Amino acid sequence: MDKVLKLCEEITEKIDACERCGKCCKSPFLLPEDVKRLGKYAKMFNENGACPFFVEGKCKIYEIRPTVCRIYPFMFLPHGLFLINIQECRLAREIYRILFPNERGERNIVKVAITKLEEMEKRMINLRNPDTY
Ligand code: SF4
Ligand code: SF4
Repeated sequence: MDKVLKLCEEITEKIDACERCGKCCKSPFLLPEDVKRLGKYAKMFNENGACPFFVEGKCKIYEIRPTVCRIYPFMFLPHGLFLINIQECRLAREIYRILFPNERGERNIVKVAITKLEEMEKRMINLRNPDTY
């Protein structure tokens, strides 16, 4: 699992298509390991409200941000790994375009096989220029 989380994080960082709109900074939740890592900041999260650390388009705790934030727009659900909010999130759209170059349509969420992520990692060297796909 850790390896897959790392892979998701690496992909989202390398694609670098986030426009810092903050739409994903609403109601983040913490995993047990996040609570430990975040220390005193953990108590400031409120799962029913906007994140208190999103200030002027930036994450104030970027280096220690929770796991869900690190891997967004990927998300683990009980039935697998998904790419979510494809219509609302520019980063998700870019990832979708690269992962599924032949798909058309208006999907907002799609299941992603781990093997697809691994393939993507191998091609990562070309990610600075997604038009080469
Ligand atoms: S919704 Fe997508 S584009 Fe907007 S801040 Fe979050 S990751 Fe970036
Ligand atoms: S911790 Fe940072 S990245 Fe996560 S929701 Fe808050 S502001 Fe956004």
